[in-house]
Amino acid sequence: LDALLISLFDPACASCGGSLTPDRKGPVCAPCWASVRSVTRPWCATCGDTLGTWRVDDVAQCPHCAQHPPAFDEARSAAVHADAMRHIIHAMKYGRHVGLARPLADLMRQTAGDWLNDAVLVPVPLHTVRLWKRGFNQAEVLTATIGAPWMRLLRRRRLGRTQAGLHAAARRRNVADAYVVRRRYRRTALPASVILVDDVMTTGATADACARVLKDAGVQTVRVLSAARAVRDPTRAA
Ligand SMILES: [Zn+2]
Ligand SMILES: [Zn+2]
Repeated sequence: LDALLISLFDPACASCGGSLTPDRKGPVCAPCWASVRSVTRPWCATCGDTLGTWRVDDVAQCPHCAQHPPAFDEARSAAVHADAMRHIIHAMKYGRHVGLARPLADLMRQTAGDWLNDAVLVPVPLHTVRLWKRGFNQAEVLTATIGAPWMRLLRRRRLGRTQAGLHAAARRRNVADAYVVRRRYRRTALPASVILVDDVMTTGATADACARVLKDAGVQTVRVLSAARAVRDPTRAA
């Protein structure tokens, strides 16, 4: 029956638009999944962005983190936000292929590794208006699919603009004071260690703003886990 339905509707890969093989496991074809690139070393010990050159020590930081240390302790991403991965994220977020959260969460769990041993996952929240428009918070769907303890600890109180299309300084201004700890958790002891979860990390401004709020509320360690990371072009880095 499945094969019949597929031949009737001829679904296209949500990433490349090519045809899906009959043994397809989801809305994205196998070659597209195979082309997804993980973030490769050397990377910044703090934000996880790629570094242009190897440094001798393990604590090498990118110039941005060295100049403006972020409030989070470390950030890692499952893949580079480019090519097929960009389309896969887009299909999950705007194309309503929410089922893509499953393979993405699998990649994120592998990336997180032993971070998951003692931390509670916290999704980056959407403002209520954006949540109504989209119908779901992609960060929360990923968080819930990873399969570790999680809490809806933060709330976005200011709508702001979408971060897409804004440069780094504008992104920082756009998210400053945008997040707060949800009222019901303000008088309770928060977990000592939190992993902030988002779909895409670009400049890190959102993660920084959320981590600052969590640390101010008493969380000791804030790590950031994202499905995809917009990396600098390492061939252009100084
Ligand atoms: Zn494809
Ligand atoms: Zn960095």
